[in-house]
Amino acid sequence: MKRFVDLWVNKIVNSYNMKHTCQAALITCEDFRLHQRKDGRNYVAEFINKLGIDCDLITRAGGVQDIVRPKNTGFLGSLLRDIEVSVKLHKVNTIFLLNHEDCGAYQDINFNSRQEELKQHKKDLRYTKKFY
Ligand SMILES: [Zn+2]
Repeated sequence: MKRFVDLWVNKIVNSYNMKHTCQAALITCEDFRLHQRKDGRNYVAEFINKLGIDCDLITRAGGVQDIVRPKNTGFLGSLLRDIEVSVKLHKVNTIFLLNHEDCGAYQDINFNSRQEELKQHKKDLRYTKKFY
């Protein structure tokens, strides 16, 4: 446990030596299959690395669903607050949107096929793009 705390403290201290702005934020799902997997894969980190930029990470169950069809009135406000922090504090000027297949937050929609599911994700991503 002490080793974990030491590593965590070092991460905090080292962050003070970095600039406090970044170019982009990424809104994606919190699903573990996308992040920090025990097999070593981290698809979101790999995506950000390919972009070659620093990027705030905003995670929500269902990615953009809190914008398209929030299940609670506070969900949209909470997401907008995170975006506002990125824009005001980190001077973000680009927001990337990343949804994924087989998302548990989309379980209320009964897809009859993978194509139908992909079509819904594309529709939601396009809607979110217009939202801004
Ligand atoms: Zn998901």
